[in-house]
Amino acid sequence: MSEIKTQAIVLSSTDYKDADKKLTLLSVEYGLIYATIKGVKKPKAKLAGASQPFCFAEFLLNKKGEYYTVINASVIESFFEVTNNFDKFIIGTGMLEFCKKTIKQNDPSVDLFVLLLKALRLLETKDANPMAALIRFLIDGLKIIGYNLKLDTCSCCGKKEMLSLGFNYSLEHGGIVCKKCGTINNSYILEPGEQGVIKNISITSIDDIFKLKFSSRENLISVIKILLRQVNLFIGEELTSIKQYL
Ligand SMILES: [Zn+2]
Repeated sequence: MSEIKTQAIVLSSTDYKDADKKLTLLSVEYGLIYATIKGVKKPKAKLAGASQPFCFAEFLLNKKGEYYTVINASVIESFFEVTNNFDKFIIGTGMLEFCKKTIKQNDPSVDLFVLLLKALRLLETKDANPMAALIRFLIDGLKIIGYNLKLDTCSCCGKKEMLSLGFNYSLEHGGIVCKKCGTINNSYILEPGEQGVIKNISITSIDDIFKLKFSSRENLISVIKILLRQVNLFIGEELTSIKQYL
């Protein structure tokens, strides 16, 4: 039996026994951790706040073999705004699900941890479009886990020149394709508005996404749908939390 202290974000929380919960944590040092947190469903439970998804806390854990139990937790950020705004909650849950499905136990990714924290802070404090934040998060998240989408040159022929005439998107090549390479049979035909969404978001860092304004929700949704299919193709899993919302 040993104790570890780690900063982690609660990715998911499910009821367990009468008063307990099972948590999936994303820890900076240890990757995913599955831990039981006891008594949190009782009224006035001291650790109830740390058992909620999105909560960023310093956890003190008891490790016995592969099993962890939360002994104590001090909340650093609870992301109240994200949990209380429907759009932000769904989008944020999709971000948590992405991390849960791409990170493994004992296989930490500091980069993905930092990205998630940045994205949640963006949703929490800045007047950012949640869907634009999700698009940037998925582009960056895929890059961190090894899938670098090609969004500035044609992912098929590698050329840039033709892109000014418009472009489409190819799941197979993992990026945009010029009109010569991308046809109705092998790619998603993008409307000018959808091309604009991809272009603007791909050249804007996550820290500046809140500065972008979008006139059409539909264009953002179309791009998210394509990216969700791309994620599914790469990692072999669906992000179900967002799919239902679109
Ligand atoms: Zn091309």
